[in-house]
Amino acid sequence: MKQKTALIIGITGQDGSYLAEFLLSKNYKVVGLMRKTSSVSTSNIAHLASKIKFAYGDLLDTFSIAECIRTFQPDEIYNLAAQSYPGESWRLSIETAEITGLGAHRVFEAVRHVKPDSKIYQASSSEMFGDTDIVPQNEKTPFAPVNPYGAAKLYAHTLAQIYKKSYGLFISCGILFNHESPRRGLHFLTQKVAYGAACIKLGVINSPDLNELGEPIVQNGKLPLGNLDVKRDWGFAGDYVEAMWLMLQQKKPDTYVIGTGESHTVRDLCEEAFKVVGLDWQKYVTFDPRLTRIKETGTTVADYSKAKTELGWMPKTSFQQLVRMMVENQLKQLEAKLSSAKS
Ligand code: NAP
Repeated sequence: MKQKTALIIGITGQDGSYLAEFLLSKNYKVVGLMRKTSSVSTSNIAHLASKIKFAYGDLLDTFSIAECIRTFQPDEIYNLAAQSYPGESWRLSIETAEITGLGAHRVFEAVRHVKPDSKIYQASSSEMFGDTDIVPQNEKTPFAPVNPYGAAKLYAHTLAQIYKKSYGLFISCGILFNHESPRRGLHFLTQKVAYGAACIKLGVINSPDLNELGEPIVQNGKLPLGNLDVKRDWGFAGDYVEAMWLMLQQKKPDTYVIGTGESHTVRDLCEEAFKVVGLDWQKYVTFDPRLTRIKETGTTVADYSKAKTELGWMPKTSFQQLVRMMVENQLKQLEAKLSSAKS
C-alpha cells in the first residue's frame, strides 16, 4: 500500500506533537508546518525532528499554506494551529479572529485551489458551546460562544460546513473538550496548577515562570488562581489525537464530540495535584480576581456517544492519571532546573 502523507499545521503545539507520534507509528510520512518566529519553540517535537519534514508557513499567509500543500501533496491535512488560549482571546481578539478563524478559512481555500481531494481535520472546540445550560453537550447542542476564541472557532467550524457542502471538500471537525498533557503550554490552567504544586513542593517561593499578568505563577509560596468553581471535562491529549485520525478514515466527513464525559471543578484539580506531592492544596491556593475571565464558559461535559459508536473511540486515561502525569513531569523538570542552577 502506498505510504500516506499527512500535513500537520501547528506541529509545534501539544496536539501536533502527539499526532505526529501517532501518525509515524501508522507509517505516515509526516510534514509539519510551523511559523517562523524569532525563536521557534520545538521542545515538543525535538525528539521527532529526524523523522518529520518541516515547512515554514503561517496561517496569516494563504500562499505559504498553498505552497506547502503543492510541494508535499498531502493525503490528510490536520489544521491544529490557532491562537488557542481562550482566556487571552479578549486581549488578542483581532489576532484570535485572524489566526483561529480566518486562518482555518485560508487552509480551506488553499486546499480547494491546490489539492481538493486532501482530507482535512479541523480542530473545533467545546468553547463554541459557551453559555449553555445543556449538560452534557453533543453534536446537536446549540452553539453560544462567550469569548472571541469560541467565536473564531465557530466561524471556522461554520466555514468547514460551507466548504464541505459548496465544494465537496472532505472536512471533518472534532469538537474537542479540554485536553491536557505534560506538553500543555504553561499559561493553561492545568499546567499552571501542576507547575504550582511542583514549585511549592520543592520550596520555590517566587517562580521564574510568569502567569498571564506577567507575575510569578507562584508568589510568596502561594499559587493565585481565578474562579475555583469552574467545571471542565479534562482528558489526555495523547488519547484524543487517535480520534482526529479516525475521523479522516471514515467514508464521509462529519462532526464528532470528543471528551471524557466527566467534569471536575478547578478545586478538584488543585486537590488532586497537591495530593500527588503530599500537600493540602487549601494552604497554598489563593484567589486572585484579576485571574478570572470576563465571562466564564458554562460547565462542559462531553457526550461522546457518537464517536464511540461510529469511530469506536473512547478515552483511556483517567483524570487522576492525567493530573499525576503532569505534576510528576513538572517535578522532574524543576528538579533538573534547580540542580543545574546550583552547579
Ligand atoms: P497549542 O499547543 O497552543 O498549539 C497551537 C499551534 O498553533 C502551535 O504549534 C502554534 O505555533 C501554532 N500557531 C499559532 N499561530 C499560528 C500561525 N499564525 N500560523 C501557523 N501556526 C500557528 O494548541 P493545542 O492544545 O495543541 O490545540 C490544537 C488545536 O486544537 C488548536 O486549534 C486549539 O485551539 C484546538 N483545541 C484545543 C483544545 C485543548 O484543550 N487543547 C480543545 C479544543 C480545541 P507556535 O509554536 O509558533 O506558537
